[in-house]
Amino acid sequence: MRVKGNLQLMKEINTAMIMNLLHREGRMTRAELTKITKLSATTVSALIEELIGKNFVEEIGEKPSAGAGRKAITLQINKDGGYVIGISFGNRYLICAVLNLHGQLISEYKTKIAFGNDSLAEQIHSALRECMDQAESVRSERIKGIGISTPGIIDEQEGTVLFSSLLRLTNFNLRRQVAAFFPDVPIKIVNDSNAAAFAEHYSGAGKDKSSLVYFTINEGIGAGIILNGQIHSGYRGSAGEIGHIPVDSQGEICNCGQRGCVETVLTSPFILKRCQDAARELGVAVPADFEEALARYDDGEAWLEPIFDRILDAARLMIASAVNFMSPEAVIIEGWMNRSAKFSDKLSDAMEKFPFPFPFTRDRVLQASFGDKGALYGSATIMLQKIFSASVLD
Ligand SMILES: [Zn+2]
Repeated sequence: MRVKGNLQLMKEINTAMIMNLLHREGRMTRAELTKITKLSATTVSALIEELIGKNFVEEIGEKPSAGAGRKAITLQINKDGGYVIGISFGNRYLICAVLNLHGQLISEYKTKIAFGNDSLAEQIHSALRECMDQAESVRSERIKGIGISTPGIIDEQEGTVLFSSLLRLTNFNLRRQVAAFFPDVPIKIVNDSNAAAFAEHYSGAGKDKSSLVYFTINEGIGAGIILNGQIHSGYRGSAGEIGHIPVDSQGEICNCGQRGCVETVLTSPFILKRCQDAARELGVAVPADFEEALARYDDGEAWLEPIFDRILDAARLMIASAVNFMSPEAVIIEGWMNRSAKFSDKLSDAMEKFPFPFPFTRDRVLQASFGDKGALYGSATIMLQKIFSASVLD
C-alpha cells in the first residue's frame, strides 16, 4: 500500500509540474516538456495522454522542430476544460469574475463595495449570481475552484477574515458565504496585496524574478512579499503591514491610533487634505480632489513642490527599509504614484542614489502590470495552480 501511495503522489506531482508549465509558458511540445521537467519521454507521453483524455490538455497542430525537419505536435491547456471564479474585495470595489483555464475573463461583475459583515455577505451572493448569469455558457458544475482576495488579517485554514478595518469586518467567515453557492468546490482565500504580488511575479512586471516586494499605495498602503517564488505571509498572515511604520513623531493620527505612520504621509486622503490646507493658506485655487492635486503637481505648480518633496522622502525611506531588510530583486509599485510621471521618475532617482550594498538601479523599480486588478488575477491564478495538481483534477 505504501509503495502504491508514493507512486500516486509522484504522479500527482509530475502532472502538476506539466500543467503549471503549460499554464505559464502557453504552448509546448512533448520534447520541450521532457527537457524542462527532466522526466523520461515515456512518462511525459503517458501523463499527456491521460490529460488529453480528461480534456485538460489539447493538441494544436505541428510546429517545425530544429534541424531534423520532423515536425512536433504542440500542446496547450484546453482553455474550456474547466473554469474558475475570482473574487476581489478592494478599497472601493468588489469584482467577481469567471475565468477559463488560460486565465482569460469570461464574465466580470463590478460593484461599489459594501461594508460590515452582513452587508458584504449579501453582496457576495448577488455578485456570484450576476457573474454566473453573465457567463451563460458556463454551468456551475464546471467551476473547478474559487480564489478570493481580501484586505485584512486572514485565517487561511478557516477561510475567515479575522479583522479588516477597511471593510469593517470582524471574524467574517468568507468561505462559508461562498460555499453556500458552491458547496463542493475548493475555495482559497488570500490577502489582497499577497495575491497582487503573486500575479506580478507569475505573469506581470516581476515575471522571472524570484524575489520581489510589491507596494500598493492609494487610500491605504499594502505590501506583498514574494520570496523564492512563494508568497511570504508571515506569522498568522500578518506580514507586509509596512504602512504603520512611524516616520513622523509630530505627524497626524493614523487609523491605527499611532501618530505619524507612513500611511498618514503617503496615502491620497491625507495628501489631499494637506494640499487643500496649503492652498487656502496661500490663497490659490483649492484642489477639489486628489487627482486634481496630482495633475497640478505634474504640471509644475511651484507651491505643491515642498508638499510632494516630503511625500517623496517618506516613500524613499519606506521602500529603502524594505529593500535593506529583504534585498528583493525588484520593487513593484501600484497606485497613485504611477499616474505621475514626475513623481515616479524622482522616486526611481532617489532609490538609485540610496547607499545600498548593491545599487538599486532604475530597472529594479517597476510599475505593476495589472493595475488594480492584480489581486483578482492573483487569487484566480493561485486557484488555477491548485487545480493543476492532479488530486483536484480527478
Ligand atoms: Zn498606523
